[in-house]
Amino acid sequence: MKSKKRIIIALVALLTVINSANAQTNTARVNTSIPIEMLFPQGKSKALILSFDDGNVADKRLVKLMNEYGLVGTFHLNSNKLGTKDYLTKDEIRNLYQGHEVSGHTANHPGLTTLSKIDVIYEVLEDRKELERLMGYPVRGMSYPFGNTNNFVIDAISGLGIEYARTVGDTYNFSLPADFLEWQPTIHLFGKTNYIPNDTLNDRRELDEFYRLTTDFLKANSLALFYVWGHSWEYEGPGNKWAEVENFFKMVSRNPDIFYTTQTGLLDYINAFKNLRFSVDKSMVTNLSSIDVFIKINNKVFTVEAGSTKQLN
Ligand SMILES: [Zn+2]
Repeated sequence: MKSKKRIIIALVALLTVINSANAQTNTARVNTSIPIEMLFPQGKSKALILSFDDGNVADKRLVKLMNEYGLVGTFHLNSNKLGTKDYLTKDEIRNLYQGHEVSGHTANHPGLTTLSKIDVIYEVLEDRKELERLMGYPVRGMSYPFGNTNNFVIDAISGLGIEYARTVGDTYNFSLPADFLEWQPTIHLFGKTNYIPNDTLNDRRELDEFYRLTTDFLKANSLALFYVWGHSWEYEGPGNKWAEVENFFKMVSRNPDIFYTTQTGLLDYINAFKNLRFSVDKSMVTNLSSIDVFIKINNKVFTVEAGSTKQLN
């Protein structure tokens, strides 16, 4: 009788060991279909970039308005144009663009696709070097003059410390850039409203299209980047658009769902997400960067603190 009991106890113990081994096997089974989604900082799903080119004197009015509405911008400047007619002076840009990003736009604003390689390199590097001297920080990106680029230009600028470069190929959507060196914006801020003088019908159509996109962005449920670019001088003159610019700023300002960022700010965030290191079974992640990264797995949001390893369950 005693030995029977012993056998039963031994069997139960064996089954327990087998079960726990199975449980471990199940836990370790890797589900390769688990999507890991990036969210913007604080778990937000919307990001706004406002970016303006050339450094015209009208930037003073624009920056003042942006500051009033708590908006941040990326300003692409031509260093050799500064101090000439209608451009800001070298002395005033550091104060004016405080809290915003200054970025490159080449020294003299030539169409880069028509230049030799050495001239492309000179235009980009000279601009970068002078803007860095004026602003006191590394300049890490640019926008292409007239939006023009091709493989030759991209090859020429690689290795010059340019981490992103914006075109003017509007996408009219809210996708993230597929290629940082051919970064396509969403839409030109009222860009086509001045093309045809005194054409109020065309102006109305362009404004309607712009506000429709803005409304779509504010209503978007999935990850959305609204990248709006332009030139401050476009809002001056007979087709004065300053009231419309202010109206737009009012629509998008101080919204808790929006991550307001410079172009470099978003670039750094996306790179921090791309540099996350996951364990094979996706139960752990290490954040190598100095930025807190927010991710969503199976509808659960996780904050992966800068420089930390996190358990994802
Ligand atoms: Zn330009």
